[in-house]
Amino acid sequence: MAEEQVQQEEAVREIRINPIVPSQSVLVATARSMRPKQAEQAAPRDTRKHVDTCPFCTGNEHMTPPEIATYPSPDEWQIRIVENLYPVLGDDRRNPNFSFGLQQTIDGYGRHEVIIDHDHHGIGLHEMSVGHLAMLFGAYRERMVDLYAGDERLRYVLAFKNFGPAAGGSIPHTHSQLIAMPVVPDNVQAEVHSSRHFYEKHHRCIFCSLIDEALTFEATIYDRESGRVRRRLDVGQYVIERGERFIAIKPFASRYEWEIHILPLRHQADYRAATPEDLEDLAGVLKRSMARLEAVLGGVQYNYFLHSLPPHDQGGSGQQSFHWHLEICPRTSIPTGFELGAGLFVNTISPEEAAARLRAVALEERAERAPQ
Ligand SMILES: [Zn+2]
Ligand SMILES: [Zn+2]
Ligand SMILES: [Zn+2]
Repeated sequence: MAEEQVQQEEAVREIRINPIVPSQSVLVATARSMRPKQAEQAAPRDTRKHVDTCPFCTGNEHMTPPEIATYPSPDEWQIRIVENLYPVLGDDRRNPNFSFGLQQTIDGYGRHEVIIDHDHHGIGLHEMSVGHLAMLFGAYRERMVDLYAGDERLRYVLAFKNFGPAAGGSIPHTHSQLIAMPVVPDNVQAEVHSSRHFYEKHHRCIFCSLIDEALTFEATIYDRESGRVRRRLDVGQYVIERGERFIAIKPFASRYEWEIHILPLRHQADYRAATPEDLEDLAGVLKRSMARLEAVLGGVQYNYFLHSLPPHDQGGSGQQSFHWHLEICPRTSIPTGFELGAGLFVNTISPEEAAARLRAVALEERAERAPQ
């Protein structure tokens, strides 16, 4: 019943420091009067299996730019990777690097690929089989291996997914994207630097330490004056899902109300090192996490993205200090001027309550193994 009590606790109003990147903090403000945010309109999901006019549906392969790869085989695809019709970064090297006074630019060189996640037009991630999801994450891995190996100028390959209009999903057919870029994005760089710094000081990976805390840490903090319980930390309070090799955690300083991070339980810095067995377990943890989000939110719009050790940061303690992970950011509210202006995210549901609600979902145990 400890969980019940935690949920009944008084409203939270505090700034929480992101343990990985301390410069990123979050205002957790749960009192009703503190809710300055506007809810994102729920978008009805297009659940159709096939749409004749959709360029990503089977039979319309001629409508997409050239094909890069298909899974499981060229003749009958379930996952299809193509070049993006409107690439953010391109191969054309028309603009040399440029520096004039304070204006500096780096050539918009790179690659932009679309991964058609499934041949079923409107299938939700939580509805895909574990085998299919493992194949999808295997496809990300293979593309990363190939892109990095094929071009030394590429500093980071970001695999991500936008699902739903609030998350920037422009085509309703389920798909994800890969953008290979000539710079390491700032937020990845910040995680790499901070975790390296932590490692040099404590000789431990900060992500592994966070997982350990989530699985083993228990504490009660009392008010010094009144002696009342101020906060209680229970074992597993931030754990949403657990597989044999992966864990899904609700971050203590979540930017988004329903944000979930999935990490390998055993230390691994580079996503490219993940084995097929790893990806199978990741797929199960992801599927169950998405089913929980779907059950609580009813039509979840989200972004997810992979953070992995960039190839140019492999030296020094990079392999020991960084730990790859998947960040899932459900989009349930519209960022306000305060958030954009202050760079401080406001979270109106305490991460403890969100975790308890996600954990409370009773998932139907369907032994699901797709024959692929
Ligand atoms: Zn389609
Ligand atoms: Zn680690
Ligand atoms: Zn990250």
